[in-house]
Amino acid sequence: MAPTEYNNIGFNVSGLLKDRVGAMREHELEEPVMELDEKTRATKLYGSARLLRINSGILAEGQIAADVMLECSRCLILLSSRLRVEFAEEYRPLVDVQTGTPLEVLQEGETDVDFSRLTPNHILDLTEPVRQSLLVDLPFNPLCRHDCAGLCPQCGVDLNAEDCGHTHERSDNRLAVLAALLDSDDHLN
Ligand SMILES: [Zn+2]
Ligand SMILES: [Zn+2]
Repeated sequence: MAPTEYNNIGFNVSGLLKDRVGAMREHELEEPVMELDEKTRATKLYGSARLLRINSGILAEGQIAADVMLECSRCLILLSSRLRVEFAEEYRPLVDVQTGTPLEVLQEGETDVDFSRLTPNHILDLTEPVRQSLLVDLPFNPLCRHDCAGLCPQCGVDLNAEDCGHTHERSDNRLAVLAALLDSDDHLN
C-alpha cells in the first residue's frame, strides 16, 4: 500500500476547487489519536466538517469531540474528559487547480491575514485548527469531582481515601497567592 500523504482528517479538495463559489462538501472526521502538545493527547476523535468553496479558496467549519486524559489539579489522579469543540478555518490554494501555476496567496490589499494553506496537491488538512480548538478548550484546573479533598500537604496521602490525622486547612493556592499579594500591597502603603 502506498503511503498516504495526509491523515484521516485531511481531504483532497481539487474537485471542490473546480466547483462554483458556494459549492459545499461534507466529511466525517475520525482520528484515533492526536498529540495536542508535549503532554496532552486526544483520542477517539469524531466529528464532521463542511467545506465551502469561497472566492479565496475553501472555508472549513465543523465540530469534533475527543477524549483527553487530564490530571486532577488537587489529587493528581488521571481522569478522562470528553471535549466537544467547534472550529473554522480559511484555506487558500498554493497553485491553480486547473493550470498548476503558483498563486499569490495574499490578495490585493492584504498584508497579513489569518488563514491556512492547502498543500501543492490540494490537500486540506484539518489537524491544526482541530488541535488548536481542543487545546483552547482544555480545563484550566481539572477536578476529579467538585469537592475533591486533594493531597495532604504534609504527608501526601490522598485525603479522599484516608485521613492521615494532620490538620489541613485546605487553602486554595491561588487564593493564598492573592492574599499574599494583597498583604504585600498593604506594606507598601
Ligand atoms: Zn481529585
Ligand atoms: Zn498528612
